[in-house]
Amino acid sequence: MIIEDKEFGEVIVRKSPLSRGVRFTVSTSGRLTMSVPTYTSTFLAKRFLNSNREIIREKLPLKDPKEQRARDYQKKILMKKAREYLPYRLEYYAKLYGYSYEKCRLTHANTRWGSCSSNRTISLNIGLMKVPEVLRDYVILHELAHLNHMDHSKDFWAEVGLHDKNYKNHEKKLKMFNPGV
Ligand SMILES: [Zn+2]
Repeated sequence: MIIEDKEFGEVIVRKSPLSRGVRFTVSTSGRLTMSVPTYTSTFLAKRFLNSNREIIREKLPLKDPKEQRARDYQKKILMKKAREYLPYRLEYYAKLYGYSYEKCRLTHANTRWGSCSSNRTISLNIGLMKVPEVLRDYVILHELAHLNHMDHSKDFWAEVGLHDKNYKNHEKKLKMFNPGV
C-alpha cells in the first residue's frame, strides 16, 4: 500500500503478521517505508505517520519526492540496458568456457554485484552497467566459476584466474564502486 504524503512523498506501507508495532525505515529509492501489523488500517497508518513526523524528519535519510522519482527513472534506464546486455554477456562466456547454468536473474540489491545459487541460477546486479566492462566481465566470470565451486576456496580462485588473469586487481577496483542504484 502507498500513502501519498505532502511532506515525504510516496510512503510505502508494508503489512506483516510478524510486525508487532510500527517501524520506520528507508527504501533503496529513499522513500519512507512503514512496517505495520496486518490489521492496521490506512487511517491508523496515517495517524502513526503524523505522530512520528518529527522523529522521521530528524533521524531518517529520506530523499525528497523529486529525487525519489529521478532515482526510479535512473533505475528503469539501467534495467533496460542490463536486460539487453547482461544475459547475453553471461551466455557468451558460459559457451566460451563450457559452463552450463540454469537461469540468469537481474537484481538491484544494494550490497552485491552477483551471486550463484545451488540451483545454478546466476544473479547479476543491474548496477554492473555503471562499471567498466572489464570489471563487469570479471563479475560474470566469478559467478560462473561458482558453478563448480560454491565457496571462495583456493580451487575457486584458481578457476577464476584461468579466465581472468587480473582478477585480484579487478576485485580490488570493484570496491571503488557501489552496487546500489
Ligand atoms: Zn563469490
